[in-house]
Amino acid sequence: MPKKEERCSFCGRPRSETNMLIAGLDAHICDYCIDQAQDILKEELKTVHPQDFSRMKLHKPAEIKEYLDQYVIGQDDAKRVLSVAVYNHYKRIGQPVTKDEVEIEKSNIILVGETGTGKTLLARTIARLLHVPFCIADATVLTEAGYVGEDVESILSRLLQAADYDVAAAEKGIVFIDEIDKIARKSDNPSITRDVSGEGVQQAMLKLLEGTVVNVPPQGGRKHPEQRMIQINTHNILFVAGGAFDGIEKKIAARMNANIIGYSAGRDQEEIDRSNLLQYVAPQDLKSYGLIPELVGRLPVVTYLSPLDRDVLRLILTEPRNSLIRQFTKLFEMDGIKLSFNEQAYDFIVDKAIEFRLGARGLRSIVEAILIDAMFEMPSNKSSGELKITRDYAEEKLGKTNLSRLRVA
Ligand code: ADP
Repeated sequence: MPKKEERCSFCGRPRSETNMLIAGLDAHICDYCIDQAQDILKEELKTVHPQDFSRMKLHKPAEIKEYLDQYVIGQDDAKRVLSVAVYNHYKRIGQPVTKDEVEIEKSNIILVGETGTGKTLLARTIARLLHVPFCIADATVLTEAGYVGEDVESILSRLLQAADYDVAAAEKGIVFIDEIDKIARKSDNPSITRDVSGEGVQQAMLKLLEGTVVNVPPQGGRKHPEQRMIQINTHNILFVAGGAFDGIEKKIAARMNANIIGYSAGRDQEEIDRSNLLQYVAPQDLKSYGLIPELVGRLPVVTYLSPLDRDVLRLILTEPRNSLIRQFTKLFEMDGIKLSFNEQAYDFIVDKAIEFRLGARGLRSIVEAILIDAMFEMPSNKSSGELKITRDYAEEKLGKTNLSRLRVA
């Protein structure tokens, strides 16, 4: 008698109709049923254990800072302030509602500092540590609802996408709003004509930052009016805004001078470090710069990032856990090539970044320009297992590149 064909014990499919049939003690399961079982499991876990904030690991401020130190060079003040704000934020979320009516307010953050000093990197790194969804929104493309551009709600569509459409996860995510300074009011006069992209957007952002339920088009934009809206509560979303606030030093200096004259003339004056006024940035300065008081009030944690000097740029090249040099070394390693740089080569790269005012972002472009020939040729060149980058090598390769082309605005 011919042997009976084995079947999946769950759906009954014969082995010939499956891609794979796995045998157990006295049963079989096919690949289709494994797939289905996995979906059921995922759904069940979601409903039985919904995203539970109280069980989320709460990192202490010092731990957060320690983690940031691995990826971001310098910026100690910003790291400390951020670590505490983030700790408080997630502590607040985990707090069961109590009767004592002490409601801890949200600690959204504003980072003031030149472009390319690590504002986005800080926010992104924290999100990675906490395993929460993260997205970047550019304030300059936002407009009031009804005008050409993106509605403020589009920020949440992006967060939802980053969370793989898991609403509960999105609701505890981190949103980085870049270039917040670009939507500052142009003059101190409250607008006479409508200010579509400035004050209007600031107004539109208020509710979002504070905490509200927003109907979000899952695909973003207004192109699909028929799509079903998803409701997102922004109450527990942490907003980190960043901006260069060009020229804000003048406002800081003006405020500080006024204070000094008003109160303790002589004493404080010597203590002010005039070469780095940004460290004194305070909410009033953001208001003088053109952010409306209500917006400043909803971004209560204010801190600053210092410009990157030579030494910091040099460290950024090699020190972060995923530093540029480590990344390129790994890329070469995959082709069996040992890449190394000597100290003079590093100095040269940093010099060029400074000379062409490329900042930390430019370091990548420079290293890339130096290595492009090798990256093209070496993978097919079996004999060479090593590449040592010297200053001369770097200079020669970079000579072919028009560095001013790399300049970041
Ligand atoms: P910003 O948001 O302030 O304009 P980013 O955080 O996007 O700047 O920084 C741009 C890039 O420069 C980052 O991806 C990172 O590679 C590098 N970078 C800038 N500042 C630092 C820093 N302090 N430590 C390490 N890398 C930095």
